[in-house]
Amino acid sequence: RTVTTDMRTLTDEIEKFAKDKKIEIDTLKIREEYRKDFLGNVSHELKTPLFTVQGYVLTLLDGAMEDKVLRKKYLQRANKGVERLIYIVQDLDLITKLETEGQRMNFEDFDVLELVRNVFELLEMKAARKDIILTFDREYKKPIYVRADREKIQQVITNLLVNSIKYGERNGTTEVSVENLIKNKVIVRVTDNGEGISEQHFGRIFERFYRVDKSGSRTEGGSGLGLAIVKHIIEAHDEKIYVESVRDAGSEFSFTLEKSHHTTA
Ligand code: ADP
Repeated sequence: RTVTTDMRTLTDEIEKFAKDKKIEIDTLKIREEYRKDFLGNVSHELKTPLFTVQGYVLTLLDGAMEDKVLRKKYLQRANKGVERLIYIVQDLDLITKLETEGQRMNFEDFDVLELVRNVFELLEMKAARKDIILTFDREYKKPIYVRADREKIQQVITNLLVNSIKYGERNGTTEVSVENLIKNKVIVRVTDNGEGISEQHFGRIFERFYRVDKSGSRTEGGSGLGLAIVKHIIEAHDEKIYVESVRDAGSEFSFTLEKSHHTTA
């Protein structure tokens, strides 16, 4: 009797061991697939600006250097390509850190309105180049304190505002609003009246490197990681991010945050 029980325990254990190993192997396979996919995407993303830069350098070496006007023009374009490469590498750095360091967020209490104002200031020039106005939907008289990782939320608001400028209408507006939700939450909304996104893309725009317009002809292309970074940060806060949009009418990205306990801090 004891022997049978022991045998059964042993079989159970072997089965469990095999199952665990299988899960481990499956996980490794998925990770390997993901790694290959990621590396493939990264080299693809780097190739376009690299070839652009090389193109201008070769044209300069081919004789364009002799022409003062062309020289300046091509050097400026090459520089744009290098800038683009720097953005991509910075975003890759960010997403790698977010994925490997996991959930480590530095929570503190801060006024989210003040944070938005800071980002407005930093992006003022960029918006002005497209005659886009960055504004609050109404005059907020009192601060709205939230508890979150200030630096990371600044990154979220920056990415959403940069997109609203990139995909925004010339002479358009980007509006930010912060509203109280039930319980201890606020919702931050970033609304633009730009090109919008059709519904079939909603599920995928938060994926790394996913773009609605793949033509690559877009002059202001980013890294394709902006929204993936946003989603990562919001989920690491245990909060939610939403998108609502109508093609050719505009988009609204919104996310929730936890209200600070001492609202009058
Ligand atoms: P990208 O570097 O391409 O902007 P993102 O991850 O920030 O990468 O955005 C992914 C895609 O989602 C964009 O390529 C664009 O097609 C779409 N998108 C993001 N924000 C907006 C917006 N405010 N209006 C219209 N389309 C947007």
